[in-house]
Amino acid sequence: MYNAIALENAYCAHNYLPLPVVLVEGDGVYVWDDKGRRYLDMMSAYSAVSHGHRHPRLLQALYEQAGKLAVVSRAYHSDKLGPFAKYACELTGMDRALPMNTGAEAVETAIKAARKWAYKVKGVENDKAEIIVCAGNFHGRTTTIVGFSSEQQYRDGFGPFSPGFKAVPFGDSKALEQAITRNTAAFLVEPIQGEGGILVPTPGYLAACAEICRKHNVLLICDEVQTGLGRTGKLLACQHENVRPDGLILGKALGGGLLPVSLFLARHEVMDVFQPGDHGSTFGGNPLACAVGLTALRVLVEEQLAERSRELGAYLKEQLAALQSPLIKEVRGQGLLLGMEFHADKISARQVCEQLMQNGLLSKETHATVVRFAPPLVITRNQIDDAVAIIRSTLADLSNGNNQATPPPSLARRK
Ligand SMILES: *Cc1c(COP(=O)(O)O)cnc(C)c1O
Repeated sequence: MYNAIALENAYCAHNYLPLPVVLVEGDGVYVWDDKGRRYLDMMSAYSAVSHGHRHPRLLQALYEQAGKLAVVSRAYHSDKLGPFAKYACELTGMDRALPMNTGAEAVETAIKAARKWAYKVKGVENDKAEIIVCAGNFHGRTTTIVGFSSEQQYRDGFGPFSPGFKAVPFGDSKALEQAITRNTAAFLVEPIQGEGGILVPTPGYLAACAEICRKHNVLLICDEVQTGLGRTGKLLACQHENVRPDGLILGKALGGGLLPVSLFLARHEVMDVFQPGDHGSTFGGNPLACAVGLTALRVLVEEQLAERSRELGAYLKEQLAALQSPLIKEVRGQGLLLGMEFHADKISARQVCEQLMQNGLLSKETHATVVRFAPPLVITRNQIDDAVAIIRSTLADLSNGNNQATPPPSLARRK
């Protein structure tokens, strides 16, 4: 048998540092490694697997459509794109949708739409449009997007960057208003910063931003690639504040844990700036992705995954907050998007994740001190109890100095 980790290390770019586990199978909230060990998946692939692994209805939609027609490009119509776009628009209260594949592509689409809207509708002078973003943002990894990241590592070595972006502190609506000029096209924001460390702004923030944007004729674009589709306990996180943005970005869970499927959705006035030939994607909106995406949305509604997320998220948060380990600094988040921050001088989030893995629970650190707990939304109360029991005993071991975690895999270069 080959050594999967050694092969990856030898032949793949080292742009990730995975936990040393080789996964071979998944079902619901569980995954199995190559030695047959079972793990509770408390990561859900950064919320891409909100429906759980191998959801039967999603699998059926995938198989059925794959056996019929999968990819045709947008050179033609297909019978699957219209129904998917209609359902997505009706569900989110948007007028039109533009299908892409990854989250970053949908963010790029939003940026292009906002700029073109600024020139064609708002009347901003050519090439002067500005987009306001938040410090600590995460919107993907393209060169344009990392150019307005405040994370030094995401940018280092990848310049020169695209101009036209301005950052304000996250959670500060006054700073947003002060940053707006007559050239401002849009404010691009995550309702909760996921990669930023599961940062939840104070209540009223997003509603205040929406008000400010409306007042100054600036588009509010919510990146709900991670927070959307039930993750925070509502279909969209912006619904916690009764905010209807001008543009909405969905991805991750939209692919039902099977495929990359993303959408940029917007009001007519915004989306109608696109003319044939302005923008596109070979795979975006392909029939296979649309069949899976539509089923992913239907399952979300029919299985009431947002409601589950709200109830079980509150339950999990309560259990985690009651743990009382001296290592824990804070537990935060909304719905089933929770983060546990550790005291940096006591332990690293990476150490916690490695020990959790040893004990049968998979998570991942975000930054040095935060571990995320974001299981598939199909998780049950009993499974949450199992997870909490593992987290409790792991933290007890770690604070007693019984750290059995294996060191990270050596990233030795190919010989
Ligand atoms: C993951 C993520 C993206 C990027 O999605 P990819 O599919 O990895 O390109 C964009 N925005 C947010 C908020 C995300 O969490």
